[in-house]
Amino acid sequence: ERAAQRARPATPGALADATPISLLANIGSVDGVDEAVKYGAEGVGLFRTEFLFFGATAAPSVEEQQAAYTKVLTAFPGQKVVIRLLDAGADKPLEFLNSEAEQNPALGQRGIRALLANEGILRSQLQAIAGAAGQTEADAWVMAPMVATVEEARSFSAIAREFDLKSVGIMVEVPSSAILADRILAVSDFASIGTNDLTQYTLAADRLQGSLASFQSAWHPAVLRLIAEVGSAGAALHKPVGVCGEAAAEPLLAVVLVGLGVTSLSMSAAALADVRDELSRHTLAQAKEFARLALAADNAEDALAAVLGAAR
Ligand code: PEP
Ligand code: MG
Repeated sequence: ERAAQRARPATPGALADATPISLLANIGSVDGVDEAVKYGAEGVGLFRTEFLFFGATAAPSVEEQQAAYTKVLTAFPGQKVVIRLLDAGADKPLEFLNSEAEQNPALGQRGIRALLANEGILRSQLQAIAGAAGQTEADAWVMAPMVATVEEARSFSAIAREFDLKSVGIMVEVPSSAILADRILAVSDFASIGTNDLTQYTLAADRLQGSLASFQSAWHPAVLRLIAEVGSAGAALHKPVGVCGEAAAEPLLAVVLVGLGVTSLSMSAAALADVRDELSRHTLAQAKEFARLALAADNAEDALAAVLGAAR
């Protein structure tokens, strides 16, 4: 039974010219592993850890956390599992978190800000992940959510590097961190772009407000230009840059992201097959041309139309 849950060798993602693009799964609980394995993910690009914390009256112990992380890591021997540290904020208050009510939780003490203000929780997560990694053969990577400044990236890296972890990175979800990607990547091992929040903050449109849904498209050239900054910084510094927001699950947009310098894509497992197919139809030169067209558009609709026209 246990063996059935282990990842089978997946068809690795690649462009038509054999450029490899890792295709990874997003999971939000231990149960998410089954789908990731079933759909042939090459690993996990975003393991959201909020499920361990929300609804709990006390912070989960290191042992409790380690047991959950171990279950996920065990399913991916020899493969990458990127664990995203707690992304808490005033929108989902936690009793044991040192925080106060806020008028604008999306702009408040969330993500890495909350972790650095509650260092005991941050350290408990890192210790549990390092412990789980030591018990399994997976590559455990850790990343901090909502990093907005070089100082946050530096503080996080310094703490995380006290633990025995393979790779310490940050999520790019705030425009400031995309604009300063070269500085932030200088103190981090990798970047993973969270296009859901990056789009919300770039266009100043609440991602949860239905009436503003038309703003929530990473096809918007303003968002794509920020992603291009991160892709260029990653290439210059030889640091991996992934995308783990919804944008990665949109097949043609995924090709554009690759053209902007992204080398891994993480998404809900059910989306992997269509993205894998689309990537296999285009070369890196074509992906770069699609990216050039999208970057030159005035808005999301025109960017999509330009790339659709070129892809036909
Ligand atoms: C994102 O913001 O794109 C992301 C992947 O994180 P979440 O959706 O959990 O905010
Ligand atoms: Mg996010």
